[in-house]
Amino acid sequence: MTKTKAYGALDARSPLAALDIERREPGADDVQIRILWCGVCHSDLHTARNEWHNTLYPTVPGHEIVGRVTAVGSAVTKFKVGDLAGVGCMVDSCGHCPSCADGEEQYCDNGFTGTYNGPVFSGENTFGGYSQSIVVKQSFVLRIAHPEAQLAGVAPLLCAGITTWSPLRQWEVGPGKTVGIVGLGGLGHMGVKLAHALGAHVVLFTTSANKVADGLRLGADEVVVSKDPEQMARQAGRLDFILNTVAAPHDLNPFLALLKRDGTMTLVGAPGEPHPSPDVFALIFKRRRIGGSLIGGIRETQEMLDFCAQHGIVSDTETIRMDEINAAYERMLKSDVRYRFVVDMATLG
Ligand code: NAP
Ligand code: ZN
Repeated sequence: MTKTKAYGALDARSPLAALDIERREPGADDVQIRILWCGVCHSDLHTARNEWHNTLYPTVPGHEIVGRVTAVGSAVTKFKVGDLAGVGCMVDSCGHCPSCADGEEQYCDNGFTGTYNGPVFSGENTFGGYSQSIVVKQSFVLRIAHPEAQLAGVAPLLCAGITTWSPLRQWEVGPGKTVGIVGLGGLGHMGVKLAHALGAHVVLFTTSANKVADGLRLGADEVVVSKDPEQMARQAGRLDFILNTVAAPHDLNPFLALLKRDGTMTLVGAPGEPHPSPDVFALIFKRRRIGGSLIGGIRETQEMLDFCAQHGIVSDTETIRMDEINAAYERMLKSDVRYRFVVDMATLG
């Protein structure tokens, strides 16, 4: 085992602080990565504060990891020392259930192992990317084709990117489709960029009137301030698909009313408390659907990373020092992120 510097929480109420963790020595199938950048997902905050009521303490969040390979095991063929590499929300899964066989490891019947807060019901805890290094089996490590100068902006693709890409692909978003993205935070801004790059007509819904210009710059064709009933009414029945990224409980009915017949709203936001129940008649009368979606599989994550490299897509980031993480969480709660905090892991030294 190797002692490794990290940053995490000891309980739900204390601020995050420096702590030491142990990393395993790389086995035959493992890749050891020195972490250069780690994105800050709202899920990190939900977990640090036990908002999903399943946090194992101490917890070391962080699942938007990019870094450089420092060692590989004897059976590793995908990576060599010195390569850039990425790690997202998962580090393992059972490998033999129908979901794993389909490359949808995030839906593993036996429960995938999270990059942090890993096997929640059995086994040892796992520690995430707010740390100097990580050891991950090669089949869960992603290749990075972006130029090295863009690396900080690549980190958020590992969660915010794939979590928006997967439902956009699942629901065949592209030319001729009108797509709503709800919430302009880390996930939402990637949703706007990716839906635009896929060729859809993109309508952004934000509660923050001061984000309208940014929404247009990021690729939205229209921006609607969702608190304004008149602006919302103009969108009634227009949308083929809505991707809802909001991190807090809210009324879903005003958004359901915007879907066409047979339209779908997929929820990816995962608030600690439930949304109020939606109006059943808003669903029945237009055969509308509400769905959900969890990150994406490893194959699909690589596909998204390669698409972003080809199209020059990265996250808009604000880089922070590791010891600024608690202030960053407070700003995230005020929807004051433009549009993803990314920690410079050199500041953990
Ligand atoms: P974020 O950066 O904080 O963005 C959330 C956005 O939601 C805010 O910027 C804000 O956008 C909007 N919002 C926040 N509070 C709101 C409220 N009370 N009413 C209406 N809108 C509100 O968070 P994130 O990192 O994108 O994550 C979003 C959610 O997705 C979190 O719950 C996270 O845990 C979850 N998540 C799920 C998956 C998955 O696999 N399903 C993966 C990653 C994250 P505006 O200012 O534009 O209104
Ligand atoms: Zn995340």
